[in-house]
Amino acid sequence: MHIDNQAIDKFLAEWQIMKPGMLYGHAHSIFILCEALQQRGITLNPAGIVATSMMLIEQERQVIEEVCGIKVTNRYGCEEVSLIACECEQHHGMHLNTDHNIVEFLRDDGTPCAPGEDGRIVVTELVNFGMPMIRYEVGDRGVPSDRICPCGRGLPLMEHVTGRVADFLVATDGHKVAGISIIENTLTKLPGIKQMQVVQEEALRLQVNLVPGPQYGPETEARLVASLQEYLGTEVGVQVTQVARIPQEESGKYRFTICRI
Ligand SMILES: [Zn+2]
Repeated sequence: MHIDNQAIDKFLAEWQIMKPGMLYGHAHSIFILCEALQQRGITLNPAGIVATSMMLIEQERQVIEEVCGIKVTNRYGCEEVSLIACECEQHHGMHLNTDHNIVEFLRDDGTPCAPGEDGRIVVTELVNFGMPMIRYEVGDRGVPSDRICPCGRGLPLMEHVTGRVADFLVATDGHKVAGISIIENTLTKLPGIKQMQVVQEEALRLQVNLVPGPQYGPETEARLVASLQEYLGTEVGVQVTQVARIPQEESGKYRFTICRI
């Protein structure tokens, strides 16, 4: 829940004693752990890694896999209906858990999305007889797929989760921008930014809280502001504040973007 150097030392000491087979956690928390281990030149060797509860960014996946020497298994679910989708050993997209749920991807007008088209995720759970959830709107968006996984399981695939509906930012022309795509094109591409959170406080005002890395400088900030304005509109004002850490939500999740409008 609170990852700093001291927590990482304690975690590593316990890891050596317990030698667990599985590294399981929030995607971004596993990344922060693995990035810190990479800087110290330490590797972990779990038999499996399951990243959950948050979107797994591709660049973060690469760091985790480098430090642990095996593939990350990404999964998607929620408290209300449990597991919705999970990668298999082929890591070829996430298989929908259709034994358990009917999963729909809907456009804003309620019609079904085509394969490859992003839409609202709506779930009907088939095994909960105490409190049936019928066409439950999870609050996430995702992309269905018509690809077939070579593993032969036959369960349909989804491409990926695009993000929490609440975490989409709104551009000046009214279109919505997935927070994750903003992060992928700033945090992971500009040198010198360790952690970042973008909060849209008002339509034309962004607050960026960031943890600077060693390479951070005025040029990083200028490129960051230009990049955010390119996504959301040149009229958008961007306030950048350097912080020591980005706090997690009460759930332990990090939110990369927050839309307050
Ligand atoms: Zn498969």
